[in-house]
Amino acid sequence: MNPPSSLREPQQIEFEIPEWLNQCLLDRSSDRHNEDNNLICLAFEFAYELHQKQYRKSGEPYIAHPVAVAGLLRDLGGDNITIAAGFLHDVVEDTDVTLEEIEERFGDRVRLLVEGVTKLSKFNFSSKTELQAENFRRMFLAMAKDIRVIVVKLADRLHNMRTLEHLKPEKQKRIARETRDIFAPLANRLGIWHFKWELEDLAFKYLEPEEYKKITNLLSERRSDREARLAKVAEILRDRLAKIGVNVVELKGRPKHLYGIYHKMQRQQKEFNEIFDIAGVRIIVDKNEDCYRALAVVHDAFKPIPGRFKDYIGLPKANLYQSLHTTVVGLQGRPLEVQIRTQEMHQIAEYGIAAHWKYKETGGSTFTKLTPEDEKFTWLRQLLDWQNDLKDAQEYIDSLKDNLFEDDVYVFTPKGDVIVLAPRATAVDFAYRIHTEVGNHMKGARINGRWSVLDRQLQNGDIVEIITSKNSHPSLDWLNFVVTPSARNRIRQWLKRSHREQNIARAKELLEKELGKSGLEAQLKSEPMQNVVARCNYQTTEDLLAGLGYGEITLNQVVNRLREAVKAQQVEKESEPEIELTPQTPVRDLNAHKNSKSPIIGIEGMLYYIAGCCNPLPGEAIIGVVTRNARGIAIHRQGCPNIEKVLGDRLIPVSWNSKDTNTRPHTYAVDIEIEAIDRVGMLRDILARLSDENINVLNAGVKTSFGKPALISLSLEVQDCQQLQCSIKKIRNMSDILNVRRLSELGGNC
Ligand code: MN
Repeated sequence: MNPPSSLREPQQIEFEIPEWLNQCLLDRSSDRHNEDNNLICLAFEFAYELHQKQYRKSGEPYIAHPVAVAGLLRDLGGDNITIAAGFLHDVVEDTDVTLEEIEERFGDRVRLLVEGVTKLSKFNFSSKTELQAENFRRMFLAMAKDIRVIVVKLADRLHNMRTLEHLKPEKQKRIARETRDIFAPLANRLGIWHFKWELEDLAFKYLEPEEYKKITNLLSERRSDREARLAKVAEILRDRLAKIGVNVVELKGRPKHLYGIYHKMQRQQKEFNEIFDIAGVRIIVDKNEDCYRALAVVHDAFKPIPGRFKDYIGLPKANLYQSLHTTVVGLQGRPLEVQIRTQEMHQIAEYGIAAHWKYKETGGSTFTKLTPEDEKFTWLRQLLDWQNDLKDAQEYIDSLKDNLFEDDVYVFTPKGDVIVLAPRATAVDFAYRIHTEVGNHMKGARINGRWSVLDRQLQNGDIVEIITSKNSHPSLDWLNFVVTPSARNRIRQWLKRSHREQNIARAKELLEKELGKSGLEAQLKSEPMQNVVARCNYQTTEDLLAGLGYGEITLNQVVNRLREAVKAQQVEKESEPEIELTPQTPVRDLNAHKNSKSPIIGIEGMLYYIAGCCNPLPGEAIIGVVTRNARGIAIHRQGCPNIEKVLGDRLIPVSWNSKDTNTRPHTYAVDIEIEAIDRVGMLRDILARLSDENINVLNAGVKTSFGKPALISLSLEVQDCQQLQCSIKKIRNMSDILNVRRLSELGGNC
């Protein structure tokens, strides 16, 4: 193993064990039964031994770094496992020790944290857009099976930033940028403001050295002036608070965050003076009610500026932050910002989710008995229990959960861009996400540098490289394992295009069966057929045939529309409708008429069929029409345009047999059309909704065109009108659905 570049020849810089660690070691020699303490000491000693003869760029012994990281974690209130992981976070990367050995010595919890931090360290973020940065942050959160991994990583980064001066300038910039774009926002998301501020300030120092110096100088120039003013304010407030018996835990000027000032100047286009001259005071008291009493004192001593009072105690922020904020006219007429809060609120404000460590009463061993699934949520649950009196805690936890526990998979392109894919996605999904042509010419995939089978499910952090060749093409079996709808659609499109001739031939066969062989070619060229082509959004009759052969559109849809078009043409010519000459959909159970329990009353014993033009459903008003063909009585919906011209003597009053319950339920085919905003998983969601309703889907087709809503056509089998209405309503209520309609809609009814 090559020594990392950070190692070099030893210099004579002594490493000093910090006081807290010294105390741990001393405590252990007097009490060997304190397992928490023992774990910390053992982790330190192991790391010390492993990092021996390794040095940092600064010349310090390497061990100083893990010790500092462990110290930061301890200051945050981290448990023994987290502190131990702080000591050990670099040993796998920088020494010969294995994760198995860590687990053997320190248990699976410590191993999990060390493993997580090691993994995160492998990524170099060198990107570009805010979207990429956000993907990175999400990936980090998704990869960290335990939130403590992120906290250890943040502590590691903070110490590295504090010692950044020893690196070369270009490396400084890269690390600082990564810190600003990835790690400071992560600290912010976890509410560890403490870390966030320092990370931002340090990144600022290396990224904008000029501005940084300017602001630092301005700050120090006015320090004495400012401090004098603040001291005076503090004295006034202390006096008055003491008089009404409010115990003040802390009252002092609020530290100014350099990057915050810079950011504000940039954002609000203000001069340093305008921002900086607003001094801040923080008052920390014992009890909630004291906050309000202190507020009264502040408003009595100084004139409040209207519209600047905020009660985040009554209405905590989503991230659990609580405090009273007000701005008053302070000494010499300068605005003074005042924050009032209790100590506990202050902990949350400073340490965010890490604050719950500080309040935890039990020791660190609470994690051992949990299953991994339980464990994922343990800290959230603890947080919830601990914060259950906060109204918005749930909202905070929901937002964190969204970020932490979604199942998306985050993988890399060879260039280091993060691609987010659906769970169980494969290299083929990845290829189509990059570009349709990459997918269509994909020959193979290398995952983490190794050739891989195409159906392997990608893991978080995989680096995926797609190998293409001109002569490679999608294969039908890819449809068996791709999970993203876009990949699926594009593979289908390709297959469709490449098998166009076969599909057209197949479509003609299908139509022949319905329309008869003779005259098919003539029908295909007829005006009604051209109407159908246009209505189905195809360019040419051939396109429609290809779509039919491929299954993008169903035979029912084509035939029904053709019949409607023929009817419309006939009505125009004012000829008598020839219903019987158009093809019809036979009812599924042709022998139903032999059964005395026929589903239709009024034509018992007669042959009948359900008219395909209007597809009546049980529950709707119907009428029978005597036809001249051999299939018997056609059952239409009342109001169907095709029966308007039928002579009265051919009409037979009929109705549905509502007692038709003791046979197995009859089902009827009905076509619906859904307009929806195209999104991943839309069709799957709709089908799931229908299957919840026990509705069988005979056929499904999706048409998408760029910039237009997706058009989803479904052929359903339903028992009656009510069931259809109910499922249409359910679909309509789904998100991203624009419109749902039954085809051959007559107005009213379903
Ligand atoms: Mn480190």
